[in-house]
Amino acid sequence: MVIEFEPVFVCEDCFTVIGSGDLTSFDYWYSPDESARRVEKVTKAVASMPGYLYAGDPDEDLEFSRTPCECCGSEEAGARRHCLMERTGK
Ligand SMILES: [Zn+2]
Repeated sequence: MVIEFEPVFVCEDCFTVIGSGDLTSFDYWYSPDESARRVEKVTKAVASMPGYLYAGDPDEDLEFSRTPCECCGSEEAGARRHCLMERTGK
């Protein structure tokens, strides 16, 4: 069995869920309604990825990108954080 790590670039919201799992920061960034919507969307997106996600190398982070988040698909331009997705091959 081979375990491979595939780099993925995700938005700050997804990174919060992947990295710390501390969702209280959503309440800080968004209004209560918006916060609940984002938390639901992002936690579902992270859970539906085909492999387990780890926080990657901060040196690989993109300070600013218009590329959609590879996890939740958010097209909001901004920072993209480097993460690694575990993929188990044969
Ligand atoms: Zn995202």
